[in-house]
Amino acid sequence: MPDRPATAMFTPVDDLDEVVDVLAVGAGPANLSLAALLTPLGSVSLRLLERRREVRWHPGLLLPDARMQVSFLKDLVTPVLPTSPLSFVAFLVEHKRFYRFTAAGYDRPSRAEFDQYLRWAAARLPAIEYDQRVELIDLRGDVFDVRTHGGTVHQARDLVLGTGPRPSVPDCARRHLGPTLFHAGEYLAHQPRPDQGRRVAVVGGGQSGAEVVLDLLSRGCRDLVWLTRRDNLLPLDDSPFTNELFTPAYAARFAALDARARRDLLAGQVLASDGISLEILQRIYHHLYQFDCVDGARRPMVDIRPEQDLVAVEPRAGGGWRLVTRHTRDAQVTEESADTVILATGYTQELPDILAPLRGRISLTDGFPELRADFSLVWDGPPDRRIFLQNAARHSHGIADPNLSLLAWRAAVIVNSLLGKDVYDVTDLPSMLSWAGARDGDQL
Ligand SMILES: Cc1cc2nc3c(=O)[nH]c(=O)nc-3n(C[C@H](O)[C@H](O)[C@H](O)COP(=O)(O)OP(=O)(O)OC[C@H]3O[C@@H](n4cnc5c(N)ncnc54)[C@H](O)[C@@H]3O)c2cc1C
Repeated sequence: MPDRPATAMFTPVDDLDEVVDVLAVGAGPANLSLAALLTPLGSVSLRLLERRREVRWHPGLLLPDARMQVSFLKDLVTPVLPTSPLSFVAFLVEHKRFYRFTAAGYDRPSRAEFDQYLRWAAARLPAIEYDQRVELIDLRGDVFDVRTHGGTVHQARDLVLGTGPRPSVPDCARRHLGPTLFHAGEYLAHQPRPDQGRRVAVVGGGQSGAEVVLDLLSRGCRDLVWLTRRDNLLPLDDSPFTNELFTPAYAARFAALDARARRDLLAGQVLASDGISLEILQRIYHHLYQFDCVDGARRPMVDIRPEQDLVAVEPRAGGGWRLVTRHTRDAQVTEESADTVILATGYTQELPDILAPLRGRISLTDGFPELRADFSLVWDGPPDRRIFLQNAARHSHGIADPNLSLLAWRAAVIVNSLLGKDVYDVTDLPSMLSWAGARDGDQL
């Protein structure tokens, strides 16, 4: 077992003329975990640039009663450094909530509370600089130049990009984005007022779509159409053997497969990460039961239409939108109209645009960046100038990559690689399942 680091605080680098060892971009959970694990080591200089004025966790979907989909133990540090002062439990204790939290019986905290936890942890990480949107990264000589929107240029030896996944918007809708047609990630910014008596269309049958639909129903929206490509509203598979996919052992097994096998597996594992929480499904169903069976004549218009692919969106002459959908099996085309369209169409992991000057030097396979086991990009730059990508390896490291489950473990793998030694123990028990092709003790 490697030695556990002491928890001494580390001094951020203030002098812009100085080349920092590690420059991280984006203070979401991924890079907060990295900072929380690097900070106590004190052996490398770190600067973490965040475009917002404070840390916020998906603020556009921070609905009042939304809950997390993973245990609070899968926080920024606990899976690799349970003695860290930045654990979720330490947050509870400091806020004197520990007994109430346990009395409440929560395994999954509310997203609002996890957002508070992230901001509390960020406030204890001196390396973060806010209001610093990174625009471009290039290599000049043998260091990276990292240019922000204010024109500041930071220089760094290694980079860790944690800018998060990009909202996925259907091509047909992209040019119409605005206050009445928007991605679910901006829901709270444009939330339609239910008293307007206007028709709302929600596109997408995953967790975000379901949360938006439940919020609209709870707030009195009574004219709603919900479109999904899926053949039903399907629950998240949170069962024990499926949760084996969210372990270091499975990540190692997955990374060892060929690209085609990985693609096939990911397609079959969608509900392990993109299904709807059972509780949300029940609450939506209860609303509909009340409307249909109890309220009777005052039945509102709530139309749930599975197996529909959105193929076109056009503005209507009198305002609002005309939506064209195609049935996924018989290709029959149907038209819908709505005053507001909410695209709960998920997120995609892509090479961040800020790497545009280096794009031609980065190795891609099937359009995806090629990543080593330590999450560093394969590129033709100097071997000791590395670019690590957080939350961009679903195609190569498996379904857990965009999730919080392996967040601290992935940050620890990156820290070990940055320092060139096993500071953190990232090994784990083998899987409960004997996956074909996996060997006992397989590690990334
Ligand atoms: C609504 C929602 C709920 C989720 N709930 C769960 C859950 O319960 N459990 C779970 O396991 N997973 C969940 N996920 C999936 C995943 O855990 C989160 O997406 C997680 O936030 C990913 O962390 P990240 O740090 O990679 O990216 P993000 O959280 O997206 O953070 C990226 C950060 O980078 C900053 N940034 C972006 N570009 C720049 C730039 N150019 N310069 C500077 N800063 C920049 C952003 O402002 C942001 O702060 C959820 C996802 C969503 C969308």
